[in-house]
Amino acid sequence: MPLQARLRAPLFQRPCLLAPNTSSDLPSIDRPNNFLLHSLQSLWRISLRSNGFRSFCNPRSAKPTVKADVGEEEGEEEEGKTAFAKLKQKIEALGINSDSCTPGVYDHLYCPKCKGGKSIHRSLSFHINRNWSYALWRCFNLQCGWAGKVFADTKKAYPVVGRHGKLTSSWPLTMESLRLQMLGNELLAYFAERMISKETLERNKVMQVAGDQKIIAFTYRQNGHLVGCKYRTIEKRYWQERNTEKYLYGLDDIAEADEIIIVEGEIDKLSLEEAGYCNCVSVPSGAPQTVSLKEIPSPEKDTRFQYLWNCEDYLDKASRIILATDGDVPGQSLAEELARRLGRERCWRVHWPKKDEANSFKDANEVLEYLGADALRDAIDNAELYQMQSLD
Ligand SMILES: [Zn+2]
Repeated sequence: MPLQARLRAPLFQRPCLLAPNTSSDLPSIDRPNNFLLHSLQSLWRISLRSNGFRSFCNPRSAKPTVKADVGEEEGEEEEGKTAFAKLKQKIEALGINSDSCTPGVYDHLYCPKCKGGKSIHRSLSFHINRNWSYALWRCFNLQCGWAGKVFADTKKAYPVVGRHGKLTSSWPLTMESLRLQMLGNELLAYFAERMISKETLERNKVMQVAGDQKIIAFTYRQNGHLVGCKYRTIEKRYWQERNTEKYLYGLDDIAEADEIIIVEGEIDKLSLEEAGYCNCVSVPSGAPQTVSLKEIPSPEKDTRFQYLWNCEDYLDKASRIILATDGDVPGQSLAEELARRLGRERCWRVHWPKKDEANSFKDANEVLEYLGADALRDAIDNAELYQMQSLD
């Protein structure tokens, strides 16, 4: 059956954005009330942004960072200056004004291609590394999506040494440069055991690495283009393609979504698709052991959750976010860290069904595998408002 036909629409039919009785002075909001919805979305936008600030207007030192090792100091400084001049020239040739940029952080600039789109905002996420050897960028205006990378010295930047010590030159990322091919029968059988169909694997462009080893490749895409890749062996060894920015897995599936589901692994995202939900993304890396007691760092310093900031425009649009992370302690910590950043008021939490008296199923894939798609749908449909859970 084609996927579209399996989707139940609309996915969520609750009439309220807020729980009806969280507070007596909060209005009950019907979906079509666009003005209120818009106001709330603006608030949420503030909640995601106000935790840190982007001082993109600050004139900052544009000097390259140079190590001060005695003896090498002069040579390195020369090298740094050359890299700086070369890179600066290349960036300018692209029409990007990087004067306000600080090496080592992600700045938001005006995009020279789309000029910020209709809303005229700084849609270009732009990054120069600390020693000025390269710059990379991506425009978050959906109609634009301009992205690229430029090196101060092309010879020096390539080839990059890959994880296994092999030389790779994988930028720009393509199926060829990553040596990806269609999943073979062995890995298709592995997924079938986990109740993931060939149809779902194909739609999500799950591949394998060419060669004898059975290495699954989860391709990360934005507007259909490869932006990253995560590898996994059957023995559950994971690694990611180097030199890529972090994004949510399945990002294109939430481009138009008002309600989204966030899970903790790529296979959980595929599992939800088997249950009929396409509006789902997975975090790219695992869960933290505990919830941080500190304040949320500024976006530049929030390295562990950089993927949220990189996907900010997609997340801002959602009015309801269902956190369907694992049921264990790290999974709960992840849900809390996500809710802190996304705004608890629009987050809902899934509780996985009981396995026996003492234990619950761990994640979406386990529920699908042991109880089936209906049970997985029930768990999602019965998500509770996040605040209600945190009051327990
Ligand atoms: Zn643009």
